[in-house]
Amino acid sequence: MRTLYMKGCVCMNFIYYAYLFFIGSSFASFYYLLAARIPRREKVVWTRSKCESCHTRLGFWDLFPVFSYFYLKGRCRYCGHSLSAAYCIFELVGGIFFIQNGLHYITSPRMFLFYMFLYSILFLIAAIDQQYFIIPDSLQVILFLLLLVDRYLSGASFDKSCLYGLVGMFAVGFLASAMVPEGLGGGDIKLMSLFGLNLGFYNASFVLCFAALLGLLSISFSHFFYKRNLSSPIPFGPFLVISFWLIKEGILQL
Ligand SMILES: [Zn+2]
Repeated sequence: MRTLYMKGCVCMNFIYYAYLFFIGSSFASFYYLLAARIPRREKVVWTRSKCESCHTRLGFWDLFPVFSYFYLKGRCRYCGHSLSAAYCIFELVGGIFFIQNGLHYITSPRMFLFYMFLYSILFLIAAIDQQYFIIPDSLQVILFLLLLVDRYLSGASFDKSCLYGLVGMFAVGFLASAMVPEGLGGGDIKLMSLFGLNLGFYNASFVLCFAALLGLLSISFSHFFYKRNLSSPIPFGPFLVISFWLIKEGILQL
């Protein structure tokens, strides 16, 4: 009887996690679409997705998060055009994030919704940077306000560490971009400064180091598996966002 009960619990947990993953990856897919269309001033709703190459309108099973990418082996079903792996990676990260957020704030729907909103803005920032190499100032302003609210909700005081983090990370970013002009962009420096404001200089510098490591791994992976040129530019925003999430949520311990 006890074994049956345990099996029932495991099964319910699996369904719950699968549900969270599906919702999270669907949200991430939608944000990626938003990020692709908003800068081009295209309609966001009531316009079905289509293949960028053959312009065939895509059906439900072509758009099923994560699953459709692997099922179709990363290619358009109709013309065989190779699809960007970034789409699938965003959906995967979105699904994992939703599971983590759902477990972390399971007892507080209000906190769950707040952090959903905060990380949605970060997802949009990462997705726009991934596709256009820009981070819109409007999103940075919204993020600035949300990170202030986050410090208030988490009970952290607004002391000198906020100022040191903000100014320190700005100085680090400014110096890095002065030494390597093709390196960090203005949007990256502003984003790093906001993370400094929220986490303090010590934690934010760790975010920067881990993001740089992820960037290096990404470049190496693209070079060895896709023969991508090592000098090709890569967007740094997505790596900063992932590192911020891992460190802020305590998934990556210092
Ligand atoms: Zn196609």
